[in-house]
Amino acid sequence: MTKKVCVIGAGIGGLTIGALLSKKGYSVTLFEKEKILGGRSLTFNGDTLTLEDYRNTLSKFSMSVPFSEPSLEDIFNKNMLKGYTLDLGFHSIEGGTMSDIGRAIIDTGNKVEMLGTKLGLINNNGFMFPLVTTKDKFRFLPSILRLYLSGESTMKRLDKQSIAETIKIYGKGKMITILELLPRVATTVNDLNKISTGESFRATQSSLRRGSSPVGYPRGGLVSLSNTFSEEIKRNNGKIHLGKKINEIIIDNGSASGVKTDDKEYNFDIVISNILVQHLFNIISEKHFPKNYVDNLKSLEGTGSLCAYYSLNKIDPKLIGKSFLFIERDAGIKGNDAVGMIEFVTALPEAGISPNSKYLVQSYIICTPEEAKSKKTLEKLREMLDRNLEILIPNFHSLLNWAIYPTVWHLDGVAKTIDNIKPDIKTPISNLYLVGDCVKAPGIGINCAVNSARILDDMLEKTFNTS
Ligand SMILES: Cc1cc2nc3c(=O)[nH]c(=O)nc-3n(C[C@H](O)[C@H](O)[C@H](O)COP(=O)(O)OP(=O)(O)OC[C@H]3O[C@@H](n4cnc5c(N)ncnc54)[C@H](O)[C@@H]3O)c2cc1C
Repeated sequence: MTKKVCVIGAGIGGLTIGALLSKKGYSVTLFEKEKILGGRSLTFNGDTLTLEDYRNTLSKFSMSVPFSEPSLEDIFNKNMLKGYTLDLGFHSIEGGTMSDIGRAIIDTGNKVEMLGTKLGLINNNGFMFPLVTTKDKFRFLPSILRLYLSGESTMKRLDKQSIAETIKIYGKGKMITILELLPRVATTVNDLNKISTGESFRATQSSLRRGSSPVGYPRGGLVSLSNTFSEEIKRNNGKIHLGKKINEIIIDNGSASGVKTDDKEYNFDIVISNILVQHLFNIISEKHFPKNYVDNLKSLEGTGSLCAYYSLNKIDPKLIGKSFLFIERDAGIKGNDAVGMIEFVTALPEAGISPNSKYLVQSYIICTPEEAKSKKTLEKLREMLDRNLEILIPNFHSLLNWAIYPTVWHLDGVAKTIDNIKPDIKTPISNLYLVGDCVKAPGIGINCAVNSARILDDMLEKTFNTS
């Protein structure tokens, strides 16, 4: 008999599992409390967006805009966002068809074009691109090969070793810079004492094996991903209810059996929650779970950042399509140094997210959720973002149409650090599962959300053998 599945939340994890299961013949119903798809991967249409909607939506996703140039009122009153497609803030993922998102899209029988690039590094004299040259690859080849071939038992041993320790033991020359940069970007955490070596190496190993490009962005913006999955759900007779909040998950004899909205009760065989795990107990009573499970979920922390979108009239063609990291030493924040990224993939005309002859540059700098709420810290971080853009584009202010700096204190739902352990996809309640960036799955952010959906898809196939 066809299994009836409820997905709570149309974030990228919810949409991916909805598309995968509906394609296999499950009867999928998805409920999203907001009127837009995508969750933290949502995209605004600059032609129709109002200042009120913009502020409201950001506040629902733990975000605000502490700075802009000119003021947000002027940007909206003068229709300066007309012709732009804007994500909530800086968004970049792995590129290529073999990336995590690329493979999930292929699994659902669809296609989205991903623009991809390598990573460069901004330094005092300008930049180096790529950061890892062919010469470096030869120099690092023995270590890369060792990493490529090392098994899960080595990775497990390294899970508890921080990157700070790994640098002390093995780091030399340029390898130190790479170990200081990439694990920070791969976790959105600046504090090297909190980042697990095993986790960081596992992520690198997985992308080495797949041959994806380190940075990618979908043509047409993140909305192309959400649209692809939601259309797949509808094509397979699944239902998507926007603007419908789930108030309660119904539990019968220790098993999830349905959900309640304001006006109706629905029965399901399987319930999949895509909401932030810290909010799970708003819709399901704690009494159904072991106490340590509840305490752990409630204690989990997210990650933060200050993002910046710059719209420029002109960009040196040698920058367009490239992505750059930077490191600010002694930045006066947790982890001491702050790592950020400025990227010009969104400035490619084929990205299709800005009007003709305007160039959208996106950037972000990592901080903790607490730092993302402190105006004083944010002012320092903004200076760092601007200073690094200035190195790439001297006097960029003379080319600026507008700049918006959103800050976020739940960029990743749960930070992937040594002491912040994400919960499993399978919960202690039967027929209740979790997907999204808050649960145990490879990668962070969008990759983690998509991978959790692919893992659950396999898990259910083994359980119900429906393929
Ligand atoms: C500014 C910013 C920049 C980011 N940059 C990157 C990046 O560069 N790379 C990257 O990989 N990731 C990035 N991320 C993280 C990435 O966006 C998230 O990891 C990803 O979108 C999370 O997806 P998810 O499936 O976990 O669900 P979410 O996006 O959290 O979606 C959950 C959905 O559930 C809905 N919901 C909640 N409660 C209910 C309810 N009771 N009933 C119905 N619906 C409900 C919510 O409205 C939401 O739509 C960024 C995030 C932000 C905010």
